[in-house]
Amino acid sequence: MHNDVIQNILVANTITQYFPISFHNKRKKRYFAKTFNSMAEMDYKAEIARLKQEKHAVVLAHYYQNDDIQDIADYLGDSLKLSQTALQTDAEIIVFCGVHFMAETAKILSPHKKVLLPVMNAGCRMADTITKADLQAYKAEHPDTKIITYVNTTAEIKALSDCICTSTNGLKIINYYLEQGEKILYTPDQNLGKYAMRLLGKEFEVWNGCCPIHHFAQASKVLKQKELHPNALVISHPECQLDILELSDFVGSTAELLSFVGKSDATEFIVCTEKGVLHPMKKQNPDKQFYLGCPSFVCHDMKLTSLEDVYNCLSNETNEIFVDESVRKNAVKALDKMLEITKL
Ligand code: SF4
Repeated sequence: MHNDVIQNILVANTITQYFPISFHNKRKKRYFAKTFNSMAEMDYKAEIARLKQEKHAVVLAHYYQNDDIQDIADYLGDSLKLSQTALQTDAEIIVFCGVHFMAETAKILSPHKKVLLPVMNAGCRMADTITKADLQAYKAEHPDTKIITYVNTTAEIKALSDCICTSTNGLKIINYYLEQGEKILYTPDQNLGKYAMRLLGKEFEVWNGCCPIHHFAQASKVLKQKELHPNALVISHPECQLDILELSDFVGSTAELLSFVGKSDATEFIVCTEKGVLHPMKKQNPDKQFYLGCPSFVCHDMKLTSLEDVYNCLSNETNEIFVDESVRKNAVKALDKMLEITKL
């Protein structure tokens, strides 16, 4: 154990020894636990900073990570933006604080860098809604259909796809293929697919997957918040169902929601996406108020990563992400196709 951590334990033990026995009620114990935790936390932050310099590493964090993880990150963003950032940096080690498919996407774009995921079993419930076998079976039955895949998928699913898209460029990519007269399947998020159909006024096939965090959020809860905060604008991520999107004042990707609240004259917002995004919103807009649209907007996989996990994986260089080279090359083709279309 590091000297500073041992020192913190000694300090905490010494304090508890010198209080009379009556002082040892639950509240005081909680106080000491909190004091000790925050001392240990400070130590992890210092240690992570030291290791980053020593190992020429960067820490990337998704907007849905815990606040303390966001605060130590060199770069904060959505999944594709972070992977592109990983590609541009000359750091040798990328610590990706997010879920598995995100670290995989960083590895796809930066095969010669060491990509580490602090918690190996931090997964994505949306990515789990489509398997390689199911998509292969679909392709065998529909050889002429173009597969457009949301970035929240495994490397294997990306590799089986014709083009990748994000919540920012999904509409443009889908429309591009439809205007070419192509038959398309949009995978795996049914909500983003249905929203695109509504906006484009066109029909296409959509996989039956979803992000449960957004899918099961209730419009009635959002309306309740609206009753409590009548002047607030409702802003939502397109992974929500149409009933929430229809009552929203603005719909966009996480980065677009952040940009919207920064530019808006409104001072109150009901936010319909994962809770973590409230942290940068509040930091960037200290004079504005933010309310979570529904209490269920919490992705537990995104909250698994602690400062200790970041420290451990960077210190020991564990939890490295690997992607099979043939899978990687096909996934890169689908990602390149996305970049090609978005530049048009
Ligand atoms: S919020 Fe949904 S899409 Fe994002 S990582 Fe969690 S389960 Fe996956």
